[in-house]
Amino acid sequence: MKVRVLGCSGAIAKDCRTTSFLIDGDVLVDAGTGVGDLTLDEMTRVEHVLLTHSHLDHVAALPLMVDAIASQLARPIIVHALAGTIAALKAHVFNDVIWPDFSRIPTPAAPFIRFHEIRVGQTLDITGKRIEVLPAVHTVPAVGYAATSGKGCWVFSGDTERNPAFWRRINQMNVAALVIETAFSNREQDLAKRSLHLSPHALAVELDRIDQGKRFPIYITHTKPAETELIMSEIQKFDQTQPFGPNVVHDIRWLRAGQEFDL
Ligand SMILES: [Zn+2]
Ligand SMILES: [Zn+2]
Repeated sequence: MKVRVLGCSGAIAKDCRTTSFLIDGDVLVDAGTGVGDLTLDEMTRVEHVLLTHSHLDHVAALPLMVDAIASQLARPIIVHALAGTIAALKAHVFNDVIWPDFSRIPTPAAPFIRFHEIRVGQTLDITGKRIEVLPAVHTVPAVGYAATSGKGCWVFSGDTERNPAFWRRINQMNVAALVIETAFSNREQDLAKRSLHLSPHALAVELDRIDQGKRFPIYITHTKPAETELIMSEIQKFDQTQPFGPNVVHDIRWLRAGQEFDL
C-alpha cells in the first residue's frame, strides 16, 4: 500500500496545501487543497473519497475536483462520511448556490458523486483495502482512519483534541505509522482547546497514552504555516523536558507534502 501526502498544512500559502492523502491512486482521505496538485489523469483514477469531517480545509477541493473530471467519469465517485458531514455538505456546499448538487446531476439515477454514510468502529472494504473508521473529538462530527497494509496500519487522527477512545484502539493495533495533528503552538493552547485541536502540551499528554513498549514513527500534520517552526521547536523540546518519563522516547517526525509511505 502506498500513501502519498498531497497536503498536510493547517492553512494555505505558497507550497502549503491543506489536508489530503492519496492511497494507492484510487482512494483519497480528505480533499483539501492538496488535491489540486493531482493531474487530471490522477484525479480520474480516484474512486472513493473518505472525509474526516466537513471543515473547508478538508473538503475544499472535492467540488472542484469532481467538476474537473465530470465529463470523464464512468461511474459516481463514492464519498464516505459521517451522517453529520454528509448533511453539512448537502446543506452548505452542494446546495445549487455554492456549487451544483453533484449527488443529483447529471441525473439522480447516475450522479457524479454518491454519498455513503459511515460510523465510528466500522471497517470499510474498498478497492481491496481495509480501512477502519476511528473516533475523533472536534467541533463538528469527525473521525480518523486506519488503513491496513501488510506492514501494519497507517493511522490518521483527523482533526482532534484529547481522545482516550482513539488511543484505546491504537494500542490494540499494529501501527506502522501514525499521522497526528498539532494545529497550534503552546502559546495558542487556549485557542487549540476551544477549537478542539492539539497543541504540543496536549500532544504530550496524548502520546503518554501509548502503551509502554509500543513504538512507531509519529508524523506531525496540520500546523499553521506561520506557526510551523514554533510548534516543531516546542515538540523537539520533548527530548529535554521528558514529558513521557525518563525511559520513553517517541520517534516524532515532520510530515511533508509529497512524502510517500510504502507500507
Ligand atoms: Zn477541523
Ligand atoms: Zn482541519
